[in-house]
Amino acid sequence: MERKNAWTTYEGKDLEELTALAEDYKEFLSNGKTERECVKQSAALAEKAGYHNLEDLIANHTPLKSGDKVYRTWMGKAIVLFQMGKEPLEAGLNILGAHIDSPRLDLKQNPLYEDTEMVLLDTHYYGGVKKYQWVTLPMALHGVVVKKDGTKIDICIGEKEDEPVVGVTDLLIHLAGKQMEKKANIVVEGEDLNVLIGSRPLKDEDKDAVKKQMLNLLKEEYNIEEGDFLSAEIEVVPAGKARDFGLDRSMVMSYGQDDRVCAYTSLAAMLKVEAPQRTACCILVDKEEIGSVGATGMHSHFFENTVAEMLALCGDYNDLVLRRTLQNSYMLSSDVSAAFDPNYPGVMEKKNAAYFGKGLVLNKYTGARGKSGSNDANPEFIAKLRKIFDDNEIAFQTAELGKVDAGGGGTIAYIPAVYGMNVIDCGVAVLSMHAPWEITSKSDIYEVEKGYEAFLRNCR
Ligand code: MN
Ligand code: MN
Repeated sequence: MERKNAWTTYEGKDLEELTALAEDYKEFLSNGKTERECVKQSAALAEKAGYHNLEDLIANHTPLKSGDKVYRTWMGKAIVLFQMGKEPLEAGLNILGAHIDSPRLDLKQNPLYEDTEMVLLDTHYYGGVKKYQWVTLPMALHGVVVKKDGTKIDICIGEKEDEPVVGVTDLLIHLAGKQMEKKANIVVEGEDLNVLIGSRPLKDEDKDAVKKQMLNLLKEEYNIEEGDFLSAEIEVVPAGKARDFGLDRSMVMSYGQDDRVCAYTSLAAMLKVEAPQRTACCILVDKEEIGSVGATGMHSHFFENTVAEMLALCGDYNDLVLRRTLQNSYMLSSDVSAAFDPNYPGVMEKKNAAYFGKGLVLNKYTGARGKSGSNDANPEFIAKLRKIFDDNEIAFQTAELGKVDAGGGGTIAYIPAVYGMNVIDCGVAVLSMHAPWEITSKSDIYEVEKGYEAFLRNCR
């Protein structure tokens, strides 16, 4: 059961491809720090690869045929791509599904305030975070502000070299005696994650002079008024680009690799596939980190509705055909796994842990306290995948999320499984998952992209 480190199997051509993929991936990460930015980039890459916007086909009743490539975005925060197979839709789809939301600090609806002549933004954290990790870092503001007339202002401040950054301060060690005795989950409390954005007062102003100066600046530079925060979605994320990690450049360090590492590799695999037997599909969704809820999360009917639209364009829609299409599908829930960390061996069971360099990770189940809440994949499906991966020389490993009862987690896998389709979690191992800066192995990224491609082409 011992598996080779994939790095030892590479020849010159593999290393070239691996490096090219890692470069493209880092670019995607650096330009995609919110779900909206990821959707925008994904749609642009899809268009470049010959995909057409499904909305146009729906509007014009354009029939769909084998080989057609289409995509559809939803509220700017989710995207799904299809490439029509040689077989009818009813035979089922081969689906790669990943999420493009990541843990972060979201601005509250009424965020702006002044305290002791400093101006701050109040936040509510999003997803599972160790709050103490999010202080004293250079942070950037990304998102949208929607004016009452519907105009949308894109915000991205703090990423260019000459742009200022913002951030959350921490208590100096000299005065932290009491703080250091607190439990880690309250050493920095959620309500104290306030982002410092300014300290310069407006002249000849007695009250809230710093806030007034800031409001003037927001109005002049971004055309934002204080009331506009009510209809804004601004995410405070670590500032700076994705970069190589390790003196040997074997790893990538970046914000947001859970789950953009699987989202990007799913998209890359999707765009490489040509003329598949079964219809290929790649769906990138929002809101996984808070339960896959809302209109843009995996629980949304957006996906099912879009498959119904596709069937209608094939002249083949009825409720039964839709149900068959979904139940006959296979899906890789492309999400990250916890990588074995030599600093913290105690939480892992070594035979069933994921390791850097050992390739794509299959998680039969996730969950916690006796697999609770997990999609427990069928061995019949796993056998199919083993064969595909072995036939295509994909390095893969199997793992669970830590020791029994050490903790747990979930993914989107259990949601499409509701249709009666086979689903399994399958992705890249990550170190420091959910931290502001996460680490992955370039060889795992390479193996996963190849594995996803092999799945789209061969699973039946
Ligand atoms: Mn995830
Ligand atoms: Mn996560």
